[in-house]
Amino acid sequence: MRNAELTELLAQEADRHEDHRARALKRASHSALLWPIEVEDLVARSESLTVLPSVGPWVARLIERWLADPPPLGEVPATRRGFITMADAVRALEAAPEYRSVRADLQVHTTWSDGAEPLESMTEALAGRGYAYSAITDHSQGLKIAGGMDEETLARQWDEIDEVNQGGALRILKSLEMNLSPEGEGDMDPAVLAKLDLVLGTFHSALRKTEDQTDRYLAAIANPTIDVFAHPVCRMYNRRSGLRADWPRVFAAAAEAGIALEIDCTVARQDLPVELLRIARDTGVWFSIGTDAHAIGELDFMPLGIGAAAMAGISTERILNFQSAEVLADWTARRRARSG
Ligand SMILES: [Zn+2]
Repeated sequence: MRNAELTELLAQEADRHEDHRARALKRASHSALLWPIEVEDLVARSESLTVLPSVGPWVARLIERWLADPPPLGEVPATRRGFITMADAVRALEAAPEYRSVRADLQVHTTWSDGAEPLESMTEALAGRGYAYSAITDHSQGLKIAGGMDEETLARQWDEIDEVNQGGALRILKSLEMNLSPEGEGDMDPAVLAKLDLVLGTFHSALRKTEDQTDRYLAAIANPTIDVFAHPVCRMYNRRSGLRADWPRVFAAAAEAGIALEIDCTVARQDLPVELLRIARDTGVWFSIGTDAHAIGELDFMPLGIGAAAMAGISTERILNFQSAEVLADWTARRRARSG
């Protein structure tokens, strides 16, 4: 039994409790998505399961019982379907060494919007992970709840990026996660956006609509100011299953417009998921991978995104993060010239 199944069994067990046990099980279920080693391998080595984060003696005994006598896995709710575990990702990457040479993290937040760390500490942490460059992508003004930036604040952030880039540990790209209205409109001056190295755009509202949203996506993709469509499905583990659309049509439109689709690595997002990545791959569209980290520890989500790309068989030649900063700059310049 792999961690993916254990995650779900723990979540289902959590739904059967209401007290502190429900909380402990829910915590363990979320945590299991990130355990880098399969629990069955730990057991095979006679190691105690309590070495795993969020596993106390009671949860450990429960898991041991399941391993000895696997219970049937009930219906998996839509909000928990299609997530891979870190152990899945590690295994996929072990079998595919070409995916290890990732040069950048292309979605990172700082205290300029809703991140927990100042730009300087985030830059150091990114350099520590061996990247050649990375994109700082704080939120734009429309997302008030996340402390989104207006044009003036963005310009001040650029001054700080210029300063940080003097240090030279790695190059920080000036970027932004722009909020798109349900009509696909951005919330920043296009002349300012044109000065950015990379513009991410996505929806952050009306994410629980159940009717088909294809038109909304097509409108957003027709917006010439965005280079990357971030966390396209907009799902959240155990909370919402994301928007519905005619994905082959949406992905083909993105390929046609030259827009990259994001693989958001945040454990609770994993967006696009592997199943949709396979469909997207066949359209020839570009991909951009970002941890969407709001804290230093979240930079470690990267293997979930690269692992998903490997599982979907996406060539590194189609992923922006595997290109040099110069090739990426060339890619955005050509994309914008074509759509402008
Ligand atoms: Zn976002």
